[in-house]
Amino acid sequence: MGLTSWNRRGFLGSVAMAASALLMPRRSTATNRTTAGDTGLSGFGQSGSPYEELGVTTVINAQGTMTMLGGSLIRPEVEVVMAQASRHFVNIPDLEEAAGRRIAEMLKLPDGYGALVTSGAAAAMQSGLAGILTGDNEFFIKQLPDLTGMKSEVILQKSHRNPFDHQLRATGVKLIEIETRDQLRVAVNERTAMMHFSNFASEAGQIKADEWAKLAKEYKVPCFNDAAADTPPVSHLWDYTNMGYDLVAFSGGKAIRGPQCAGLLIGRKDLVRYALLNNSPHEDTLGRGQKVGKEEILGMIKALELYLNEDHDALRKEWQDRLDLISREITRIPGVSTSFFTPDIANHVPHMRITWDARIPLTPQQVAQSLRNSRPAIVIGGGEGKPGLTMNSFMLQPDEDQAVADRLAHILRDHSA
Ligand SMILES: *Cc1c(COP(=O)(O)O)cnc(C)c1O
Repeated sequence: MGLTSWNRRGFLGSVAMAASALLMPRRSTATNRTTAGDTGLSGFGQSGSPYEELGVTTVINAQGTMTMLGGSLIRPEVEVVMAQASRHFVNIPDLEEAAGRRIAEMLKLPDGYGALVTSGAAAAMQSGLAGILTGDNEFFIKQLPDLTGMKSEVILQKSHRNPFDHQLRATGVKLIEIETRDQLRVAVNERTAMMHFSNFASEAGQIKADEWAKLAKEYKVPCFNDAAADTPPVSHLWDYTNMGYDLVAFSGGKAIRGPQCAGLLIGRKDLVRYALLNNSPHEDTLGRGQKVGKEEILGMIKALELYLNEDHDALRKEWQDRLDLISREITRIPGVSTSFFTPDIANHVPHMRITWDARIPLTPQQVAQSLRNSRPAIVIGGGEGKPGLTMNSFMLQPDEDQAVADRLAHILRDHSA
């Protein structure tokens, strides 16, 4: 199902369906009708705009899958499955194992590889490493982040350090930074638990993804790839295990459009099993705070199914069409130019850079701020060290491309000399 068919009526229809199923028997709502339709609710949420009821502004997202903005929007079908999940009790470890088997089949993972639904890619990193450190040793699992008796170092390239390695450090390990192959060889020792790779930083380091996995094999050290935001392309979901990575992490709530609090840990069956032992629902574990619910587990499977069946070429074309529409409108203003690019890795979707000359005496920050102050509010990327503004369109909802075009044209035209 493409984004085009994800129209407003379909979305609200499914919400109503899910809501009515949840609220049996349905209460009369004749007096509560609002513009959003019959929500079947009274009190909080009855307007159909619970955010508005709280006085919190929703935004048009032209920046991408940012956790700070709520990541991505789940599809109606995912919502329906999550509602189905919410109506029954179930043994969570059993559910996790069954879900992992289903996901491994869907991704056609090689024999000996499995999957685990976590509360996000960050959680997959932490519990994946925790599992490597403890194995199935109950005593060690309870002892983390005290590493007495366990290995205690994780090696990564200096350029691959980033805020998410906090999840690795949370297990108690020391991060060992290297830059060259020689430094790597010297750094590997009997304390080395894992070799970590941050996929988006691939270009920055001397050792690329495939060589990193090969070297890890040579040194007999488990290796991990944080590929959280690295679908599309969809093939990345199996490329890195095929490349030799023992564990790979993906966000569920980014381009896959699964539940916001879901992620995938994919990799060697034994390591995936140890990761679950270090995670909620098991108590007295490092990962108990990273609870993943039955709703997220089932919602993740549905999201993945839909994502795998999507026409990715059609989707990419639709994303480009939306940018073209905005470009046509704003480049009519003298001095405004646009250019297009697709990052090789991480947010591998069409992007548009918008620049303007001295005829429009506004800084990119001022334009971005004006967009944010608009109603509806629009969030767009800064130049990321480059001139102008950058945006993408893969998180835009129907008709929002036109809204962005209109608003942007209005701001730029208002200030043109
Ligand atoms: C988003 C992201 C994460 C965290 O993913 P969550 O699913 O939000 O936990 C980790 N690493 C990278 C590179 C990311 O982009």
